[in-house]
Amino acid sequence: MTFFFEASEEHIRRERARARELRRSQWWKNRIARGICHYCQARVDPKELTLDHVVPLVRGGRSTRGNCVPACKACNSRKQSMLPVEWEEYLERLRREP
Ligand SMILES: [Zn+2]
Repeated sequence: MTFFFEASEEHIRRERARARELRRSQWWKNRIARGICHYCQARVDPKELTLDHVVPLVRGGRSTRGNCVPACKACNSRKQSMLPVEWEEYLERLRREP
């Protein structure tokens, strides 16, 4: 069974602001300096890495260090366009065939 949790607009607005702060932090700069996508492990230019929420804000995710990972543009746009279950399958495939 899948739960579709829709977070409040206030939650999303607050966590987006926190994400902007996190992107300016030294912690984030160190994370992207490695130049590796969290999902597909591809080596990418740090400038090409985007901050992705593992649990999306609309599903109640927060802008904490544990929930924010560097993602390449390909993974990021896949994640935007896929249903959560399709995204899970994509990650599962990556784990099986690295
Ligand atoms: Zn990737």
